[in-house]
Amino acid sequence: MRQDDLTPMYRQWAAAKRDYPDVLLLFRMGDFYEMFDEDARVGSEALGLTLTARKHSGDNRIPMCGVPHHALDRYLRRLVEKGFRAAICEQVEDPREAKGLVRRKVTRVITPGTLMEDELLQGQEHNFLLSLAIVGETAGVAVVDVSTGDFLVTELSCRAQEESSGKPVAELLPDRPAADSRFAAVADEIARLQPAEMLIPEELVNERWVSEAVARGGSASLTPVATDDLEFRSPAQQLSEFFGVESLRGFGCEDLPAAQSAAAQALRYLQRNRMDALPHLTGLATYSTEQFMVVDAATRRNLELVRTLRDNSREGSLLALLDRTLTPMGARLLRQWLLQPLLEVDRIRRRSDAVEALVRDGVMADALRQSLRGVRDLERLINRTTAGTANARDLSALGVSLTALPAVREALMPGSAGTSGLLDELRDSLDTLGDLATLIAGAIAEEPPVTVTEGGLMRDGYSPELDELRDAMAHGREWVAGLQSQERARTGIESLKIGFNKVFGYYLEVSRSNLQLVPPDYQRKQTLVNAERFITPGLKEMEEKILGAEEKAQDLEYELFTALRREVAQQAERVLATARTVARLDALLSLARVAVEYDYVKPTVEETAVLDIRDGRHPVVERALVNEAFVPNDVLMDCEHRQLMVVTGPNMAGKSTYLRQAALICLMAQIGSFVPAREARIGVVDRIFTRVGASDDLATGQSTFMVEMTETANILHNATDRSLIVLDEIGRGTSTFDGLSIAWAVAEYLVRKIGAKTLFATHYHHLNELTEVLPRVINARIAVKEQGEDIVFLRKIVAGGTDRSYGIQVARLAGLPQEVIERAREVLRSLEQEDLGRTVGPSQEAARKVAPTVQLKLFEAAPDPVVAELLKLDLDTLTPVEALMRLKELQDEAQKRKD
Ligand code: ADP
Repeated sequence: MRQDDLTPMYRQWAAAKRDYPDVLLLFRMGDFYEMFDEDARVGSEALGLTLTARKHSGDNRIPMCGVPHHALDRYLRRLVEKGFRAAICEQVEDPREAKGLVRRKVTRVITPGTLMEDELLQGQEHNFLLSLAIVGETAGVAVVDVSTGDFLVTELSCRAQEESSGKPVAELLPDRPAADSRFAAVADEIARLQPAEMLIPEELVNERWVSEAVARGGSASLTPVATDDLEFRSPAQQLSEFFGVESLRGFGCEDLPAAQSAAAQALRYLQRNRMDALPHLTGLATYSTEQFMVVDAATRRNLELVRTLRDNSREGSLLALLDRTLTPMGARLLRQWLLQPLLEVDRIRRRSDAVEALVRDGVMADALRQSLRGVRDLERLINRTTAGTANARDLSALGVSLTALPAVREALMPGSAGTSGLLDELRDSLDTLGDLATLIAGAIAEEPPVTVTEGGLMRDGYSPELDELRDAMAHGREWVAGLQSQERARTGIESLKIGFNKVFGYYLEVSRSNLQLVPPDYQRKQTLVNAERFITPGLKEMEEKILGAEEKAQDLEYELFTALRREVAQQAERVLATARTVARLDALLSLARVAVEYDYVKPTVEETAVLDIRDGRHPVVERALVNEAFVPNDVLMDCEHRQLMVVTGPNMAGKSTYLRQAALICLMAQIGSFVPAREARIGVVDRIFTRVGASDDLATGQSTFMVEMTETANILHNATDRSLIVLDEIGRGTSTFDGLSIAWAVAEYLVRKIGAKTLFATHYHHLNELTEVLPRVINARIAVKEQGEDIVFLRKIVAGGTDRSYGIQVARLAGLPQEVIERAREVLRSLEQEDLGRTVGPSQEAARKVAPTVQLKLFEAAPDPVVAELLKLDLDTLTPVEALMRLKELQDEAQKRKD
């Protein structure tokens, strides 16, 4: 570039930068994308590039750094990973043809939620842009995956909840303001979707529930949007226009204004950022969160559905176990199924019938598996095609994938074992796209290059004009090759060579020692140390022909290729429909494969409140055991007689495993999977709640106990009599009496007020007394055998409670020194005696009316006036939580008086 170009070019850069002040601007110059000024400082730091400087006017220099154009995607990925956004400013005319300064334009802005570039994406997961809009008391949520074309909308209520009669446990805690529960459902949905980026009304950006929801769902990058965006057309009009439809009725969201706002907001954002290549969005799909079991973030984490608790890795999760999919769209769908189990018995059965058909007919399953192996990521390939960013390899991959489809269909033809309703439907609706496969196969060369401008893309025979040009090139090259021996013979120079370089074109090279033999028609072109290079008029003439043909061929190929790409893009809708069918087949096949391999059974799913699992196993733990066999266990629960099960047993006995396996089996049944059991009858549950273990939530910086209570409050607020609740060691994060009191109160509330099936693991064996005061409570324990001073874990669940905790035996097993163990025994004995002494007292009879744990609390609280006050209350009319709150108030008062 000439020096005097600098200033206008800098002006061009500054103009582009004005439009994109908040993102890094990557400015194409020749073979590089350059950053200037502040961008260069930030960018060089983030990417580890050398910072240089460039003169932009007079003696002024500005910082500059750049990345080579072929490595752009790699650098973009690093930027995105580090949370940066970048605008790509391209040269939009051929520099060879430009008069003066090459025109440049920002063609796309890279943000975490708008990625299409394969390099930047993970195949197994969706990359969602989530858009949130609030209209009145309704939240609209839209999610787009521009790489696959999925565009979904839903609405959720954010009306203030009516005061429920019982106060949530969390309110017992002094320093916590009542959380903004209006957005609980929205927060759950955000956490479930785990978006990469979230568009959010700017006035909500700093709300606490937003940061909590984002933290629960991974780490979305937040993009605030102004709600008073100047836009004349209504959201509905914007959407109808974009999709070219009369009304939004066909999408099922004509009466959902909040959903429309959210979708239109997402669309505007995409139009602004992906201006070069708006992805292929065929329409909106409206979904209702009511169709699905709610799997909130706590449950997803506690049950280790997609990541493990220990190291947050995929390996060891339920998803990793169940995922035997063969295509990326199958993998994405299976993940979605897992996080959105179904509620309708019919839909569940349709899936499990299909899985059953594939389990029964191994031949069909094998054939299907074979045929699916050839299918690549159809969704992302076709979307790049529509966006105009697909290269010849992408089209070729698409074409090859399509040729696998007839075999997919063939595999599903009814054999001796029969198929299922769903499989038949999927087979019949599968468009095998033969026309498109033929078109691509006949057009794209065998192994095309990555670049689309340097030829070699199209197959011989596809275009007569191209064939002619290629002939001319081939003929010319042959002629040049022949020239070498011809000239050697003519001149007698044995070492004469013909070569080619970009600057001089074809030349004849003669070494210095042979220069005297050079004939007069050779024209000198270049002198090297040991040789000279010459040309002849004949050679130059041929060179022009060859290079002319080559250039023409490249241009023509590019034209042919882009025309083909447009033609293929026209069929995008068909390809996407096929991709979805393939995804479903793949996911079903994966479930069947696992069922066969691990010996699962088909559960009976029904519209009752029964949970009846015979010889159930924990799907992940049973695979992890190496030296021992997994001991199967039954679960039998319902809402009439066996609603709340208190599970006791020493640490390490297998309580958590037992609880989780019940929840996992339920969840697996409701995605249509087979389950690890001998037999299972599953009444559909609307939600699985879990409160498991005590682990500090480092991500949000809350204390263990706080997290535990927040999760518990959430359960008490949202559970219904159709829910399944798993509570593991609740109350552990605080003092014994507090913990026990809370655990007791929670259990009572669940039985009296909610009626949800609940599995309650605890090491407080006092909780076994619940059976004496509450209906529908049963005790169970994990059996251990005492052998002298040791215990042996039998892993078997048996009826009845425990009266001791074996903590000391477990400590012994863990290898604590004998001296410490002995001392612990002593201390325990004296504590037990003290405990007995304490239950004797004058107010005992009156205090019986309260739950035993509150009694303990009372005696602990001691000062008589408090007890006296409390006993004046009509305790039968209070819930334990209310009683506890009242107690706390009284205690505080007493404390104040004392001070
Ligand atoms: P707890 O919750 O009672 O402390 P866990 O459920 O964490 O105990 O179980 C501890 C370990 O015992 C598990 O990691 C697993 O290896 C083993 N275990 C649990 N249940 C079984 C079972 N049914 N069969 C075999 N091993 C089991």
